Amino acid sequence: MERQFIERYITPYEPTVDKANNRIITVGDNPKVMFSCHTDTVHHLPKRQKIHTDKHGIIHAGSKHSNCLGADDTAGIYVALGLIDRGIEGTYIFHAGEEIGCIGAKHLAEHEEDFIKSFDISIALDRRGTQSLVTAQTCMIGASDEFAKAFCAAIGMKHSPDPTGLWTDNIEYLNMIPELVNLSVGYSGAHTVHERLDSTYLFKLVDALAQVDYKDLPIIRDLSQPQGIVDTYYGSYTGKYDHEDDLEDLIRRFPSQIAHLLETFGFDGDDILDFLTKEEGLDDYQVYKHLTAPGRDDWWDDFDR
Ligand SMILES: [Zn+2]
Repeated sequence: MERQFIERYITPYEPTVDKANNRIITVGDNPKVMFSCHTDTVHHLPKRQKIHTDKHGIIHAGSKHSNCLGADDTAGIYVALGLIDRGIEGTYIFHAGEEIGCIGAKHLAEHEEDFIKSFDISIALDRRGTQSLVTAQTCMIGASDEFAKAFCAAIGMKHSPDPTGLWTDNIEYLNMIPELVNLSVGYSGAHTVHERLDSTYLFKLVDALAQVDYKDLPIIRDLSQPQGIVDTYYGSYTGKYDHEDDLEDLIRRFPSQIAHLLETFGFDGDDILDFLTKEEGLDDYQVYKHLTAPGRDDWWDDFDR
């Protein structure tokens, strides 16, 4: 389905396709702005699905044969194509494999460093909600306050800087592009049957982004300096965290990203094992049992339990 979708909606724009299956479309000469989205979605069931739109323009997957909508990140693709249609200067990267560990973005960061470093601004179109401009992902700050405020004002749709982002493609470029953000594209409840997309918001957003003067935005973050992390990460979640995204659910869905977050905070595997046995009171057998690969549990016979 992903391939058919790309063929139908992106291929007509004649993108460059790289080894990792990223699609890249450039409008203008050496643009300084990169727009970023991803072509993969998370579905538990294959095939086409039925979707419904209510009178407020809210789209949802309505039948019991459907699963999630896939607005994460088809909404981002819609915005990117809308800006290309309007001739807005920029490099548009349709990343492959975001949901399975940003493999497309990792490829570019590793093999196309000069290309990535040629941008001043990276705008991911992959944030839930309608009001957030993510300025930090997994606590790592990606944009200056000055840039974030100026960009929100220029869009003119009441977005505000939001340091509670988790993870999207352009985090791979954090140390290569000075101003790096992720903007709300109107979905909520991603990856679940409750997923919704606010299409009214989405249509407005394309028009709003098309009238921004990107050359006017201040480029402040200095990549040669040590970068800050957000220290109020968990505190700032209060009230922004909807029930569809409870923490355990997020950990199940993004185990490798959460592991990365823990590493960022200085926890390694031994610390976690210590935590489980000493703080949580699990016994050694319960904990270490899970470390054994299938078919390799013979040594448990000798374990003193
Ligand atoms: Zn996404």
